[in-house]
Amino acid sequence: MVNPATGEVFAQCPDASRAQFEQAVDAARHAYVNWSRMSFEERRRMLARLADAMEARLEEMATLLTLEQGKPIAAARAEIERGIGIIRHLITIVIEPEVLRNDSGGRVELRYKSLGVVGGIAPWNVPIVLAAPKLASALYTGNTMVLKPSPYTPLTTLLLGEIACDILPPGVLNILAGGNELGQWMTEHPGIDKITFTGSIATGKKVMASAAANMKRVTLELGGNDAAIVLGDVEPKEIARRIFQAAFANSGQVCQAIKRLYVHDDVYEALLTKLATIARQVKVGDGLDEGVDYGPIQNRTQYERVLEILDDTARQPGVRILAGGHVMDRPGYFIEPTIVAGIGEGTRLVDEEPFGPVLPVLRFSDIDDAVTRANDSRFGLGGSVWTKDLAMGADIAARLETGVAWVNHHLGVSAEYPFGGVKESGVGRANGVMGLKRNMEPQLIVLPAGS
Ligand code: NAD
Repeated sequence: MVNPATGEVFAQCPDASRAQFEQAVDAARHAYVNWSRMSFEERRRMLARLADAMEARLEEMATLLTLEQGKPIAAARAEIERGIGIIRHLITIVIEPEVLRNDSGGRVELRYKSLGVVGGIAPWNVPIVLAAPKLASALYTGNTMVLKPSPYTPLTTLLLGEIACDILPPGVLNILAGGNELGQWMTEHPGIDKITFTGSIATGKKVMASAAANMKRVTLELGGNDAAIVLGDVEPKEIARRIFQAAFANSGQVCQAIKRLYVHDDVYEALLTKLATIARQVKVGDGLDEGVDYGPIQNRTQYERVLEILDDTARQPGVRILAGGHVMDRPGYFIEPTIVAGIGEGTRLVDEEPFGPVLPVLRFSDIDDAVTRANDSRFGLGGSVWTKDLAMGADIAARLETGVAWVNHHLGVSAEYPFGGVKESGVGRANGVMGLKRNMEPQLIVLPAGS
């Protein structure tokens, strides 16, 4: 394993073999028999103990997360805390049968049953914040699980597995490290009933195709290219820092980060200047060092991809790079926070998901034009509108073709509310009641009158 802040190997992690994978699926199928028969209350108690045990080892988990992922230690602590909070919230949700009819014609109930074995597959940007809802949603609703972290960031998730070993019955949660091949084995395996996947759109399409073999259920949380639309009535100095953080959090490696910023003519130059000033002021460095705001790109492949996009950007006619634009003169995968103006659609930076610390700032004069441009994308994860007029903001937000649209805010997932994307950004929703029910199958129970 490479520490992205130094580029040096700091740990070894073996990949699970095919035989170990088969053993994990068998263990999960056996454990399912008893686990699925337990009450919600029994499963709630065990998952609550898991959350407590994670809390007791928070510092150890956070340090490991910074070492393998690169994010500043404060952000790593916050991620573990969020993971714990997600587990604690999801297990408070009560899933009751829904009575659809109860009268002289009979009684009809919709009950929810667990699915079987759920396969979880995660990416490398927020390993614990993505593993926690997957495992809590699957296990709490009575399923057992095989969970695969990204080959770039397996260690903190494996530590979570070690913590869970003392709490959950054997076979209930199986965490396996491995590469893309292991992911494919999971999507193909007839002993797995559902895949909950977070990652890129390209891989999501492969997962969906492969899952069709035994009609696996899928929840796909895929890439985003979120637009934020800033109207002319805002005070740039009041919103600049929040917009910056929503674009550069985790060095831009967040599915729901602002990746296209559309700014009205009236405030364009003022907001641009503020964003460029912040970009020059923030401290980028090794996440274990004091006072670091942003860490490196997590892995070399992604680093090289962002550099390619940066190179393509610099060659566009009329482009202005107001801050950043270069790699940092130090070991590790560091790119300066970069603010780009004078760029339009039809370029890689605007049309693709860069997933790095580079923000294009686009100009508009007519709101209908801005909404059309924001929606002219195969992505549809999140979006936002920034204005002093909240009612107008809500109306414009509702026109965005996204799974979530904020007014005067961007970024942030809550375990309370359904989370997911439209168009190619995903299928289904995670979190909230809706997310839990995606780990279950509804069954209609029909009784005659008088029962
Ligand atoms: P990726 O698609 O390359 O990999 C994700 C996971 O899929 C990894 O564990 C990988 O080993 C596995 N995998 C690869 N090929 C597979 C296959 N054929 N079958 C099954 N599994 C396979 O994505 P990444 O580069 O790790 O993550 C970055 C992407 O994730 C970005 O596009 C980002 O937007 C997206 N993301 C989405 C969300 C969301 O909630 N919508 C959250 C975080 C990240």
